[in-house]
Amino acid sequence: MQVNVSGTREFYHSITESSLCDCGYCRNYRLQVKSAFPDVAMYLDSLGIDIEKPLETSPLEPDENGMLEYCCCQYIALGSCEPEYHHKIADIEFRAATSYPSTGIEQAHFVLEFSPIKLKYLR
Ligand SMILES: [Zn+2]
Repeated sequence: MQVNVSGTREFYHSITESSLCDCGYCRNYRLQVKSAFPDVAMYLDSLGIDIEKPLETSPLEPDENGMLEYCCCQYIALGSCEPEYHHKIADIEFRAATSYPSTGIEQAHFVLEFSPIKLKYLR
């Protein structure tokens, strides 16, 4: 994996709060993910990625205990990534995404994804 860390960091700085998804599940994610998964946040930060600014999260329905699983959390990174890339933190698996929404970015980039992330649904 070849990440342009400073470029990626700059990119995340340029993302404004108002451009992020405003749905309840996404707000729930942004509110808690950093404190609930500090190791993941730190790993992403080492790549220049802000964990509170995902490209896409894919929440399932909250379960009977009010826990919400995000089965896929995707983040843009500037640079390139080999398809075999794999990283693991506890039971959370990281890989290069093959399917994701349009990023609108011209320069070389890829999308990193990881799962599963489980958070309490605060609503
Ligand atoms: Zn959303």
